[in-house]
Amino acid sequence: MNAPFKQHVIDPEICIRCYTCEMTCPEHAIEHNDDNVVVDASKCNFCMDCIPVCPTGSIDEWRVVGSKDEAYSLEDQYSWEELPEQEEISASDDGTETDADDPIAALLAQAHKGAGGKVKAPASAAKPTINLYNLGHPVEAVVQGNYRITSESSDADTRHIILEFQGKPFPVLEGQSVGIIAPGTDAQGKAHLPRLYSVSSPRDGERAGYHNVSLTVKREDDGVCSNYICDLEKGDKLNVTGPFGSTFLLPSDPDARLLMICTGTGAAPMRAFTMARQRAVGAKSGGMVMFFGARTPDSLPYFGPLNKVPSDLLQKHLVYSRLPDQPKEYVQDRMQVEEDLVAEMLQDPNTYIYICGMKEMEDGVERAFTNIAESMGQQWTALRDVMREEGRFHVETY
Ligand code: FAD
Repeated sequence: MNAPFKQHVIDPEICIRCYTCEMTCPEHAIEHNDDNVVVDASKCNFCMDCIPVCPTGSIDEWRVVGSKDEAYSLEDQYSWEELPEQEEISASDDGTETDADDPIAALLAQAHKGAGGKVKAPASAAKPTINLYNLGHPVEAVVQGNYRITSESSDADTRHIILEFQGKPFPVLEGQSVGIIAPGTDAQGKAHLPRLYSVSSPRDGERAGYHNVSLTVKREDDGVCSNYICDLEKGDKLNVTGPFGSTFLLPSDPDARLLMICTGTGAAPMRAFTMARQRAVGAKSGGMVMFFGARTPDSLPYFGPLNKVPSDLLQKHLVYSRLPDQPKEYVQDRMQVEEDLVAEMLQDPNTYIYICGMKEMEDGVERAFTNIAESMGQQWTALRDVMREEGRFHVETY
């Protein structure tokens, strides 16, 4: 039977070639060459495991073709510089009993239904705009400011960069990321792929009403893009893609409680959340708790301004792993010290958890949650699954 076939494809203009999807796919249906990352239609079983791990959303693309035999081949996909338009499939091709008026819409709706099924945005979050600008069509931004936000004495050079989009629309929500394209080419002579950076300002702008966007960027040794960004000066122009991300978002409900756990530049989205909440509720209690880890106060981004945030709005637990003559302390250690607080928040159905920063932090934080849940007589993995399903558990590590 020649029924229309829904094919999983990847947008080559958005994909940053991190290959996380390829490493995740249990069917080994995803592969890549020097040009593109592609999906083998004969192997993909729509398990959706690759969807939540993609940092850009380029993985969540679908085309309906006349039948499985007509699926785009790997060779087709390797040759794409952009996704092909969705071709019209006539209703007469449809051997199934789906909505005959608009079979494509019905099939695409079905395809997207499961997408991100394991990771959901908070129910009250605003609808994000994604992929407005891509590799082929970036938007030009102008640097309004570039300020070091770690102490000069620290090895970590982390900067607060403010971008302005010269009147072009660039709608972002707190928790989203943008792509920055460093000029020049890589060792293969190809244009650099965009690197992702979390937005650290609220949706109405670094300065309220100005819709400028700030980023928090750490200079990496020999890093192509981070050095390019950290060296930008006021007035410099750069190419930006995005915005990206549709799940790691702030609930619009001002009573939602936020449990934020971060290290290093993982503080970027937490800054955006905190400023948005402060603008929404003023000095009144913000219901926000933060566990923030760094080596030393010198290397903790925004140390000075963060200390001025009222503790009624944000309860801060700043944790250091390299203080002279002090035992190392990591975020997971402090979470366990504050077990009663964390347990009480875990039991509240209005608590949302956000974890952002270094990949290495994940295991320790998981262990802390496991122990704390156990002390409540609960199994953390079961509780986490419920929270994730309700859009209340979010992780972004890199
Ligand atoms: P790259 O050039 O990509 O190099 C990466 C590392 O590899 C460097 O340390 C470099 O020294 C090393 N390296 C490069 N070439 C070689 C080689 N030939 N041999 C050995 N080592 C090599 N970062 C932030 O600072 N702030 C953020 O808010 C932020 N948000 C992010 C959000 C998301 C969703 C993701 C996925 C990442 C985020 N990142 C963020 C990380 C960021 O995207 C970049 O990965 C980071 O800035 C490094 O990029 P780069 O181009 O400077 O380094």
